[in-house]
Amino acid sequence: MRRLPFPDFDDIAGVDALVDNTRLGSYPDLQAFRQALKDGYEQYHNAEGNAQAVLLVPIPDPSGDWLRKHYKNPPTSHLPINDIREDGLALPCSMCGSSHAFSLDHVLPKEDHPAFAIFSRNLVPACYCNLKRGRNYRGNNVGARTLHPYYDACMDERLYAAQFSGMGKTARVGLQILVADIHPEKTAIAFHLDNIVKPTGVLNWMRKRWVKFVRAPRKIVGSLDFIPANDQELFAAIRDHRDGRDYAQGSPNNWESMFAEGLLDPTVIAWLLPRLSADGRGIDDPVIAGLT
Ligand SMILES: [Zn+2]
Repeated sequence: MRRLPFPDFDDIAGVDALVDNTRLGSYPDLQAFRQALKDGYEQYHNAEGNAQAVLLVPIPDPSGDWLRKHYKNPPTSHLPINDIREDGLALPCSMCGSSHAFSLDHVLPKEDHPAFAIFSRNLVPACYCNLKRGRNYRGNNVGARTLHPYYDACMDERLYAAQFSGMGKTARVGLQILVADIHPEKTAIAFHLDNIVKPTGVLNWMRKRWVKFVRAPRKIVGSLDFIPANDQELFAAIRDHRDGRDYAQGSPNNWESMFAEGLLDPTVIAWLLPRLSADGRGIDDPVIAGLT
């Protein structure tokens, strides 16, 4: 997941161009919704994309369905949507932090919110996670909602870390929330973790990463190219690696950084240090002696 700048597209002008386009099958049906769409976009923006505060704009089918179809095949007025899609491809997923977005998908699903099917500020580069969560974008508790890459500044904060236990050739892995309970978006951060991030397979990825890490720590954390003499040296090396992943992925909330942040936990450092600095260990040797 990562914070994004607003797309460079004039959605209000786009509404006029769309509903007045006589060549489209949606003409003249969509003419009746010109103002409702504009008001809806404005309300969405004023509510900062908050999934509990954005109001439903009722657009019954077939007009609602036309808007969904225009998302799949943008008319001339909305061709810049294709540029936004291309611009986000193969970059880190803005919703879950995996390394590869492959689509431009909806924050508020088009099935429930056809009015926002082609609203650029409802469209974000995402991976399989967004298909998997489907129409799950808010909970019943106050503040329980998905985070929004265009509006939630907290996506620039380090929100999550791996949590390792039972360390050995394998490890049990969970994900923990790093922000304090008093954080104003704590409920949304927790909802996003449980409903967007965790269902992606991130825990499976973390478990497999651990297995590789203990076999070849330097290949996973390149800065471990020396034998650490103490906790501070080990911590600093892993932190450098984490900071590099933050930069490369454009966010502290990518899977590589979440993994590295988990390694920085004092219990993991205390487990790693005596093994990495064991007598006779070379920098390319495994964490656990004899592991191949
Ligand atoms: Zn994703």
